[in-house]
Amino acid sequence: MIRAFFADGLLNPVTGETVGEAVVLVENGRVTASGRRALIAVPADADRVDASGLMVLPGLIDCHVHLTSLGDGLDFTRTLTTPPTFELMSAVQSARRTLDAGFTTVRDAAGSPAGIRMAIEAGYFPGPRMYVTISALSQTGGHTDLHFMCGADLDIPLPDRPHWVVDGVEPMRLRVRELIRAGADWIKLCTSGGVLSPGDQPHHAALTLDEIKAAVGEAAAQGRKVMAHAQANAGIKNALRGGVATIEHGIWLDGDAIEMMLDGGNVLVPTLVAPQWVIRHSEAGKMPAFAADKARAVIVDHSTSIRQAIEAGVKIAFGTDSGVGPHGTNGEEFLLMHALGMEPIDCIRSATTVAAATIGMPGVGQLKEGSWADLIGVPGDPLADLTLVARPENIHLVVKGGEVVKSRA
Ligand SMILES: [Zn+2]
Repeated sequence: MIRAFFADGLLNPVTGETVGEAVVLVENGRVTASGRRALIAVPADADRVDASGLMVLPGLIDCHVHLTSLGDGLDFTRTLTTPPTFELMSAVQSARRTLDAGFTTVRDAAGSPAGIRMAIEAGYFPGPRMYVTISALSQTGGHTDLHFMCGADLDIPLPDRPHWVVDGVEPMRLRVRELIRAGADWIKLCTSGGVLSPGDQPHHAALTLDEIKAAVGEAAAQGRKVMAHAQANAGIKNALRGGVATIEHGIWLDGDAIEMMLDGGNVLVPTLVAPQWVIRHSEAGKMPAFAADKARAVIVDHSTSIRQAIEAGVKIAFGTDSGVGPHGTNGEEFLLMHALGMEPIDCIRSATTVAAATIGMPGVGQLKEGSWADLIGVPGDPLADLTLVARPENIHLVVKGGEVVKSRA
């Protein structure tokens, strides 16, 4: 059956152009034609969907989320009293909220095992298309090591979530192989400390260059790329020298790092909204002091770093670290990117064409013939008003694979 979506406008992020009076034709979940209504023949028996009053554009992509993290603060007592299955089930709600905010594709930057992606694909619950990293690999005492000074160890691997603490070149090779065996689409490394980890510092590098190269080599051998949680300047440079594809957070870029990214075609995923949420949670009494102090210490440098990257023309893909903040608020990142100098069309591209090319998932990020029919409808032109894609209440229509998954009259 052919389905036809009639909208007042269509935004094509490839060209940056909008047309009025548009139609998107869909068959078997894929786009067969899209554009100006006058130029497209709609079969008489097509199932017609009225999206009048809305401008449609491709479904949005968030390159950095954690669907199994609630996003309402950090509480170690709660961690201790939460069964792994309960944590896992929270992804059902997170997936729905992400979809409702217009994000039809995500790359999960650790936490979600492949089973979550598979369950969404099987239709067990609604959610975005996913690429998963499963576990974020860190050195002993690094960003994801949950072995505390008191001796308590919360580094509890699950059968489908290989252990994330790893030291040395050969163990790194083995761990990457285990992650790929468990279904990882991407590999994630922590090449610096971070904000939410009690035992390290964002400005310190982590993992050796040899460990990073080993991970990148093993990943590449099986067609995977590597993303690096990289905040420290040295951690960013090690990651780039080691061959990672995307730099996450990028708090302390400098001229040399920016040069390296431009030369290597690397992509920056800023997650500007993440430290904002750490501070908001802290003000609501839901964040330990160590994390709030670190977020406050990095937030200005983070903005400065990302502004420099934008000015220099570094490729920037949309990512929020949702799971630090609440799922479904992803769009706020657009406003922060824009405030640092990104044009509205580049903000939209960061979450469509650029994000699709970055994560390497075919058929998403645009509405050309053969693409997945993932689209959203907003009441106006987001190039004139980015809040139309920034606030979930402005996302009036969400379509995934040709099926309407959210519709607000
Ligand atoms: Zn993250």
